[in-house]
Parts: sequence; structure tokens; C-alpha cells
Amino acid sequence: MTEDGMSALIKEWGGEEHIPTRLKRQFVRRPLCEAQGWLCFYCRLPMEASGGSSVAATLDHVKPVSRGGKNSRRNYVAACGRCNQDKGDMSAEVFGSLRGNYEGRGLPKSVRDKLKNIPPSERRRRANQLAAELRAPAPKPDAQGGR
Ligand SMILES: [Zn+2]
Repeated sequence: MTEDGMSALIKEWGGEEHIPTRLKRQFVRRPLCEAQGWLCFYCRLPMEASGGSSVAATLDHVKPVSRGGKNSRRNYVAACGRCNQDKGDMSAEVFGSLRGNYEGRGLPKSVRDKLKNIPPSERRRRANQLAAELRAPAPKPDAQGGR
């Protein structure tokens, strides 16, 4: 499908928000996967076209819906099911950095500095911690509960 053809369809549907899921797979997910060479945006491993498995291609919101991201083509990348799940409501920049794709582009310096010293084997675990920190306001120094 050409870019023009897609725009026409989106107009007909009354905007990208209203594209039915089945059509979204066909006209949004598939072209994205092809543009990415069927490699996950984050981990760069091959994705499968059919659903269900952890390596199946999914549409991932660059800016999570929980943070005001839209269901829009411009807000999607194709990611494997595992990355999509691990990403949770992290932004693409943060998660991509942790997965080694984004190289810290667009991240606050404080986060880039944190990432620099994390060995790749630690990144996955650290991703969850960092996500929690970014999600929640910084805890007061005296309110830090141990776990
Ligand atoms: Zn992946």
C-alpha cells in the first residue's frame, strides 16, 4: 500500500484512532514490519508474522498510551511480543536505550549517565528499576523502604 493510499483509507475511517484492529494489522503493522526488515525495533531480532509467540510482531506505542500517546501510525513501531511486554509503559527512548538501540538519543543526561555504566547483561534488570524510578516521583531520602 502506498503512503497516499493509506492516507486515503485513514481519512475514510475518520482518523487513525478508528482503524479496526484487523485492518491495522494489515495496513499498519505489516508495512512497519517490512520497513524494519522484520526485525524488532528494540532487540533487532527477527519477528514472526503470525501472532501468539513471544517473537510475533506487535505494534508498540512509542509514547505509551498511559502517558498520553495516541493510537496513530506515527506513534507505532514494530516490536516483538517480548520487548513489547518488557517495555510496559516506558518510553521508546528509555527502553530502546536499555535494549541497546537508541544509544541514549533524546534522553535526559541524568538517564544517559546512568545507562553508560550498565553492562549489557545487567540492562534488562536495570530497565525495570529505571522504569519504576521514572514512573514514580523520586522518593524522599528518608522514605526509602528496603525490600
Ligand atoms: Zn524485541
